[in-house]
Amino acid sequence: MTRTFSGIKPTGHLTLGNYLGAMRRWADVDQHRTDALFCVVDLHALTVEHDPARVRRLTRQSATLMLAAGLDPRLCTVFVQSHVDEHARLSYLLECTATDGELRRMIQYKEKGARAQAEGQSVRLSLLTYPVLMAADILAYAADEVPVGEDQRQHVELTRDLAVRFNQRYGHTFTVPKATHPPVAARVMDLQDPGSKMGKSHASTAGIVHLLDDADLVRKKVMRAVTDSGTDVVHDRESRPGVANLLDILAACSGGDPAELADAYTSYGALKKDTAEAVVDTLAPIRKRHAELAADQGYVDQVLREGASRARETARPLVDRAYRAVGL
Ligand code: ADP
Repeated sequence: MTRTFSGIKPTGHLTLGNYLGAMRRWADVDQHRTDALFCVVDLHALTVEHDPARVRRLTRQSATLMLAAGLDPRLCTVFVQSHVDEHARLSYLLECTATDGELRRMIQYKEKGARAQAEGQSVRLSLLTYPVLMAADILAYAADEVPVGEDQRQHVELTRDLAVRFNQRYGHTFTVPKATHPPVAARVMDLQDPGSKMGKSHASTAGIVHLLDDADLVRKKVMRAVTDSGTDVVHDRESRPGVANLLDILAACSGGDPAELADAYTSYGALKKDTAEAVVDTLAPIRKRHAELAADQGYVDQVLREGASRARETARPLVDRAYRAVGL
């Protein structure tokens, strides 16, 4: 059976981008079709300046939201990365497989490193090695598929390179995974800045729709979305990024093809209104289920405990084999 692995960083409140780019398919498709593991990758939250209590709170909130978004622990494994030692154990072996040059070429490292420096912070070594830990997350479970948004494409490519290199040097050990992306909204953009992706750790939240935003706040954010100077509604990411983003979100939430949907609109106002309502309808059941689950944290803790135990059983023999393969 195909094995799937994917994760979410607890670095902020989960966004519509996280949901449309990744989580929705985990719940609707992957957990039904594959042997799937989904993880709150809390070790990855330490690569930039962080507050320990916030990371702990967001880890729990992210796990709760993954369940609220439809992950069913009877169908898939839901757990927290730091509860399973194999991730860090394997990461070291992969650090001995990766090169300094290839990690410095990673786009996210360049962007986040530059941001940290601009804010007067030193760049943590873990920001450079983060894609190696991500490779370990995936390879430890012999995942075939990694359902992620477009922004993770380069990191999954690196994971493939490391798996192939390790296998060639030390004998076949790892499955070489492939990234899968949703057909629409694989890269949801910031509503206020359609040149950059909707990210959960952005300083300004005016253009970010969070999964727990109430209906009025969602409407306000979508209605204030930056559009383009033209007036006709066309789906063109190059010349009309703001409108194309709204069309992508509308198509992802209500079905249909973004370019075809464009033909149905003659004004930006009507497009925004329909997009806002489609997002509100998409998020309503998640918010409702989140409220129920948040009131039953004992259940969430139990799911995570059982998930970690299942994940450990899967990862340990493979990581042990990798240790033996390199001569330890
Ligand atoms: P973030 O960038 O919000 O911190 P993560 O690194 O935790 O997100 O990513 C979790 C998943 O959500 C990944 O599969 C990532 O590709 C996806 N994702 C994040 N932001 C977006 C976005 N704006 N559009 C589509 N997918 C996204």
